[in-house]
Amino acid sequence: MTSSAAGVSSIRLHAKASSLARAGRLWFFADDVLEGDVLPPRLVRLADEAGRDLGLAFTGAGKIAVRRAGGWPGDGVPDRETFFGARLEAAIAARGPLVPEAGVRLVHGESDWLPGLVVDRYADVVVLQVTSAFVEQALDAIVPRLVERTGAAAVIARNDVGARRHEALDGDSRLLHGRRVDETAIVEGGLRHVVRPFDGHKTGFYLDQRPARALVRELAVGRTVLDLFSYQGAFALHALAGGARAAVAVDQSEAALARAVAGARANGLEGLTTIAANAFDHLRTERDRGGSHDLIVLDPPAFAKSRRELRGAERGYRDLNRLALRLLAPGGHLLTCSCSHHVSLPRFEDIVRQAAAGLPFRTVLRRRLGAGDDHPAVVTHPESEYLKVLLLQRCDG
Ligand code: SAH
Repeated sequence: MTSSAAGVSSIRLHAKASSLARAGRLWFFADDVLEGDVLPPRLVRLADEAGRDLGLAFTGAGKIAVRRAGGWPGDGVPDRETFFGARLEAAIAARGPLVPEAGVRLVHGESDWLPGLVVDRYADVVVLQVTSAFVEQALDAIVPRLVERTGAAAVIARNDVGARRHEALDGDSRLLHGRRVDETAIVEGGLRHVVRPFDGHKTGFYLDQRPARALVRELAVGRTVLDLFSYQGAFALHALAGGARAAVAVDQSEAALARAVAGARANGLEGLTTIAANAFDHLRTERDRGGSHDLIVLDPPAFAKSRRELRGAERGYRDLNRLALRLLAPGGHLLTCSCSHHVSLPRFEDIVRQAAAGLPFRTVLRRRLGAGDDHPAVVTHPESEYLKVLLLQRCDG
């Protein structure tokens, strides 16, 4: 079904914005618009300056006034049920069969032509992050679809994300469907991880690091592992499951470390030590006492939340990586990560290069990883690719 209330449901872009759109740009500002109103937030047909179709778009209440939402047959605008029904189905189908106890990202915003919507599924709990005003208004069309498709016992909106402020959306997380679930669990590679959908980080767990956890598990056999910024110890647990001799998890959050200990016990894993400390201080203490480790995981929070913080963030990454590299045993590996949107992969590699300069051994780049394939990135939309992971190795002689 389509409706085309003339004028209201279409937007034309200026010539310059139109050529950027043809080159793959997905986001536009209010002053990129030649004709049509961006308010109220709604689904519109987007056209270039000459009226040629650019597919659908969401208009919004924030600085990013127009977000492209993909092609659609005909020249009208589908109703919300039809639009979200089709987009959600395509996104979910692309992830393959739903595995009952698994954790998976079902919707990754722009990459699934659903700008401003993230949907993560943790067993029978579904968690949403909504950062666009149009999606917020359309939850009554979205939530029933998700329940029907996933059989979720609970659907939760994690609204404590800064980006909501730009669209004048509130910051209170809430239950959208079913019963309140404070804690659930997922199984990844046979390991059970606790997920707290209301107060865990992100939507409850770091789903995006699945490929890196698998790699750590592969490398861990017989080795000593240091998991820095461990949160609830997902890397440390995978290392122990992979046969690590011992793993030390360091985080400033006592609550997160308590969950790491509980996780080791629940999975029958031995050899975990937790240390509540500032990771920078811990690295310096280790340096001073001459510590060394076979495998170090360095997965700090995003240091650069904005472009303004970039310089300080880069210094932080450089110091941490240098300290960590110096603690590697001969032949040891460092798995180093950055999830700052503002630090590009070339920039991050440059920081690591600076960190490795002048050390008395060679640092070899063994592998580049990113988020798992349930977090696809659109190459013309760098904002959708944020996680950078490098596997480095200390090579002597
Ligand atoms: N590696 C984790 C995710 C890390 S999230 C995983 O795979 O699940 C970042 C973590 O860094 C949070 O748990 C936070 O408590 C911790 N953190 C932030 N700043 C810190 C600091 N200066 N020292 C130690 N931990 C810190």
